[in-house]
Amino acid sequence: MIIGFIGLGIMGKPMVNNLLKAGHQVIVFDIIEENIKEVVELGAVAASSGKELAKQVNMVITMLPNSPHVREAVLGKDGILEGAKAGDTLIDMSSIAPLESQKIHSKCAEKGVKMIDAPVSGGEPKAIDGSLSIMVGGDKDVFDQVYDILMLMGSSAVYCGNIGAGNTTKLANQIIVGVNIAAVSEALMLASRAGVDPKLVFEAIRGGLAGSTVLDAKAPMMLQGNYQPGFKIDLHIKDLENALETGQGVDSPLPLASQVIEMMEDLHRDGCGQDDHSALAKYYEKISGSIIAKE
Ligand code: NAD
Repeated sequence: MIIGFIGLGIMGKPMVNNLLKAGHQVIVFDIIEENIKEVVELGAVAASSGKELAKQVNMVITMLPNSPHVREAVLGKDGILEGAKAGDTLIDMSSIAPLESQKIHSKCAEKGVKMIDAPVSGGEPKAIDGSLSIMVGGDKDVFDQVYDILMLMGSSAVYCGNIGAGNTTKLANQIIVGVNIAAVSEALMLASRAGVDPKLVFEAIRGGLAGSTVLDAKAPMMLQGNYQPGFKIDLHIKDLENALETGQGVDSPLPLASQVIEMMEDLHRDGCGQDDHSALAKYYEKISGSIIAKE
């Protein structure tokens, strides 16, 4: 099958690679030329715009930063809808505001283009090994039609409900991850300041109730002071902003997410927006005046 793919960043590149490895032909586009070159070297074919890409395929996948980027890529000048045909399918795997998914879905429907929202969790390592968790909103028939393609990039794809439900699920995911990273930072700093080696604390607790995928993935980064992304602070701020906006819309208070976004915005002001979200540890290092890993 020939698949179009737009958005070749940290996540998009390995996802394209997995589609190629499964024997599909992939036509790609990104606004950064260098990113296109990298996936062309893997075997993809470059298109000059979203419009030109959409003309050549019946299925387009997008993996873009946020709502405005998806709007631009789908509805903008030389965008996907200018080249798409009735009956084509758009799978938006970006994490965006659920309300925006619904609006873009309506515009697609006017042209007879089917759209689902299918954001992911798992980060770059799981994008590389094709084991992302995929959460999907939209028409169940469309989900069933694209399930096999999704499973080339993920180890699970769960149908969550109508269009936007995938992104609502992703917001729930991002609240749990963000608050969990803040809790790990806070706990390791307490141990460190109390004179207990945080590495030993990590080893001691990871098999117990406090153990989590977040603890296993992020504590080692904090212990090494390695904040190479991964998932950037700025992207997590975007997700929590979308969560707060959605929470206001449905009258669901988010006191913990509000607290974590304050911490992340402080890091952003300190120039750490491109760091991995495990850099929440740096916020604790700043307010406590000491570092977690002392060696
Ligand atoms: P990224 O910033 O590395 O990549 C985004 C890509 O989109 C870039 O190559 C950029 O040039 C391109 N782009 C932006 N606007 C465009 C447009 N109008 N047309 C074409 N290309 C355009 O971001 P990422 O880390 O790959 O994340 C992508 C999405 O996946 C985000 O919504 C993010 O929240 C989500 N996500 C990321 C991770 C992660 O660990 N990085 C994990 C889960 C979900």
